[in-house]
Amino acid sequence: MKKKTLYDLKNIKGKIALVRVDFNVPLENGKVKNNARILAALPTIEYLLKKDAKIVLFSHLGRIKSEEDKRSKSLKAVASEFAKISLHPITFIEKTRGLELEQAINNMENRSILMIENTRFEDVKNGEIVNYESKNDPKLGKYWASLGDFFVNDAFGTAHRSHASNVGIAKHINESVVGFLIEKEIKFLHDAISNPKRPFIALLGGAKVSDKINVIDALAKKADKVIIGTAMCYTFHLAMGKKIGKSLAEPEKIDLAKDLMNKYPHKLIIASDSICTPEYKDVKGKAYEDIPDNLMGLDIGPKTIKMIKKELKGAKTIIWNGPFGVTEFKNYQAGSKAIADELINLKDAITIIGGGDSAAMAIEMGIEDKISHISTGGGSSMEFLEGKELPGIAAINDK
Ligand code: AMP
Repeated sequence: MKKKTLYDLKNIKGKIALVRVDFNVPLENGKVKNNARILAALPTIEYLLKKDAKIVLFSHLGRIKSEEDKRSKSLKAVASEFAKISLHPITFIEKTRGLELEQAINNMENRSILMIENTRFEDVKNGEIVNYESKNDPKLGKYWASLGDFFVNDAFGTAHRSHASNVGIAKHINESVVGFLIEKEIKFLHDAISNPKRPFIALLGGAKVSDKINVIDALAKKADKVIIGTAMCYTFHLAMGKKIGKSLAEPEKIDLAKDLMNKYPHKLIIASDSICTPEYKDVKGKAYEDIPDNLMGLDIGPKTIKMIKKELKGAKTIIWNGPFGVTEFKNYQAGSKAIADELINLKDAITIIGGGDSAAMAIEMGIEDKISHISTGGGSSMEFLEGKELPGIAAINDK
């Protein structure tokens, strides 16, 4: 790691650590539905507390496009969940700037934690969209930087964005480091693609090919096989002249799909059969290879499952991004469950699951402890795998 890490910080007793975390967690009826992202940030927070620092936490939550959005997107509920699972008291300030916030920070004791309000509240002022946070307004980054002594970026989920609360603060503060979560994410993703144990298999599912074209290309260069399943595969089926019925696809990407198949004829493997239903509903479906006009595919079928199991035998590195069916529906989880089962039983393999939806799926299937690494960042992990520089990490001091 060529960026400074927590271990490079010296004499931080009593110092104010500005810590950007990714507490962008799902809420249901005002309560945190899944606290995985909070848990993932705890090692960094525990380390800073042990070193007697004072911690000011920054995070966004959802998107803020109006004053109305602010009502349902306060970080207050997240602060309560944090206190519950970490057992550390936390002070929540319903502000993103101003005297009250500054006084609260000045009054902090060593080993205490304060969380400011959703950083994206800075995107709307008096009902007007100003995007101070999301467009990295230099005045805001400078102001936030002025509140502390050093900056720790541990928000991997937003590292692919240049915002005031990551890049802005890093640019305007004396010292900046990455936290343990970012360090771990980079280590796993970097090792997996730069020096993979082989066979190296990539599994790409999810909804949209357009999101993942560059990833398919980047992974096909490095992996031994790239397996494309569920909605992602229908654009490829169109390119092959197969019938896809009403399944989700991107006809405007057919040429791209053809190019990829021509470029990597022996590496790209496209799912063949699908479990289909007339409507996008959680009802039992039937397997087809050529999908009739009135049906849509919502999961991979038994033939594809068998093929994937065969490819995974003996694999040593597996990167899996995107569910292989509509896993929100009980009737369309079989494909992803079969893959999960195969992954957790592989011997001596590095298994990495990436992306928001995939991480949630892994947790729901209860396999999170049996996977080498579950990435907390969908977009970030994809951009990293594409070989792009992540601005939130690039802005951190080099060693
Ligand atoms: P992504 O964000 O690209 O990883 O896509 C994840 C989403 O893809 C999940 O919400 C799945 O329900 C959805 N998905 C997976 N397979 C299908 C399918 N065959 N048809 C429609 N949506 C799908």
